[in-house]
Amino acid sequence: MQEQGIKTSDWATFRAQAQRMLDAALTQMEQAADHPWQPVPEDISERYALDGTPRGAEAAVDQILRDVLPYHGGNTHPRFWGWVQGSGLPSDIVASIAAACVNANMGGRDHGANYMERAVVDWTRRQMGLPDSASGLLVTGTSQATVIAFQAARLRVCPDLRNIGQAGVRLTAYAGAGVHNAARKAVEVLGIGADNLRKVPLTEGQLDTAALRRMVAEDRAAGATPFLVVGTAGSVDLGQFDDLNALADAAADLGLWLHVDGAFGAWTRIAAEPYRALSDGIGRADSIALDFHKWMYVGYDCGVALLRHETEHRAAFAARPSYLEGADRGLAGGEPWFCDYGIDLSRGNRALKVWTALQTYGDAAFSEAITLNCQLAKQMGEEVAHHQQMALAEPVVSNVCVFTARRDLPEAAQSQTNARIAQVLQEQGEAVFSTTRVNDVVLLRAAITNHRTQPADITAALQAVAREAAV
Ligand SMILES: *Cc1c(COP(=O)(O)O)cnc(C)c1O
Repeated sequence: MQEQGIKTSDWATFRAQAQRMLDAALTQMEQAADHPWQPVPEDISERYALDGTPRGAEAAVDQILRDVLPYHGGNTHPRFWGWVQGSGLPSDIVASIAAACVNANMGGRDHGANYMERAVVDWTRRQMGLPDSASGLLVTGTSQATVIAFQAARLRVCPDLRNIGQAGVRLTAYAGAGVHNAARKAVEVLGIGADNLRKVPLTEGQLDTAALRRMVAEDRAAGATPFLVVGTAGSVDLGQFDDLNALADAAADLGLWLHVDGAFGAWTRIAAEPYRALSDGIGRADSIALDFHKWMYVGYDCGVALLRHETEHRAAFAARPSYLEGADRGLAGGEPWFCDYGIDLSRGNRALKVWTALQTYGDAAFSEAITLNCQLAKQMGEEVAHHQQMALAEPVVSNVCVFTARRDLPEAAQSQTNARIAQVLQEQGEAVFSTTRVNDVVLLRAAITNHRTQPADITAALQAVAREAAV
């Protein structure tokens, strides 16, 4: 079919092609275990090159099936545990069709999708134990949620920030030594400066609150304005959790805003014990950044900024020039508008895929999947511990397992072996581990945020590790 301009005239043909696309997507998801990551072909850029010629829906779908679907990032596969990546849900396919159909702009105005985003934010707020006074915004991910939270935090100590900037105030923020890079980026973007994000030492994997108190006192004495402490619920390298209750106490004593980076680990809130207890105290935070696209398995992208006080959230971002004036009725109604709670004016409909997932599977299914992921990481840790040549870097506390395949080798050789094993298993489509360094040794790392993983996958992957470690 050759399209006659952008306006589709031959709907029968288009419908047939769209249905072919849907079928292929469902089949690939149903058979996710048969579709591991594979290297992209050398000529991929040429295949994707655009020359401006109309080829029609049939040719476009043909090419998507041939050149797009096979070359994904592997995170839909049951043995993918690299970095921290969500596995994607069939409900995403349903939601993205509906989202494309209505093409909602979520900046504001009075249409259904805004009410749905409020429902998703409210559901999330309740899971985290924040009060009714809280507000939230769906964003691209925790990185952006962190910027939003830090900006609101800064307004508390610099009330005229929006007009005059920081005006010579030297703000300092505090975070445990293992804090994610997203916190650093946020202080850089906001002009606070990375040197003013002070790294507090850890004791037993947790931010040392006594050291925090000392550092804040020193910085105050030196003329700085400490304003923020970042707690980590689920550290990216080892899956460790700060003691959030101790941090909330310290933040209250020191007059600091408590932000929790809960990108994935915040979801232990809905896991069974003992995992739920890891995030105890998270509901005492002034702000929380977390993701739906990691440990809630929902398709990319979707994170949330949650703020304890709607008034502070709104005060940091609300701005309505005349071309955005609201009204009490009609399409310009529907207050409050989401554009008043963040940076974006035009916004996509992220709520629909979250809502569709929760409506389709129900809360209990997510609790069980998250709990199972922790149990699988524990299983992996136990199998590693039982293997003669393997060793854990740290005890497994949540869903992250970090280990060496050859503890019997000198450190440099261990690093080489572990890095090679990660590569070989990725290239052979057997399993995806990523790597990290502990005490400068490269180690294999599995962060299990994958609802498709079963116990047998763990055993099989460790057998593959052992096989390659013997080479
Ligand atoms: C992934 C991650 C981030 C960044 O989140 P994005 O959604 O990728 O922006 C921040 N903190 C932690 C602990 C993470 O794992």
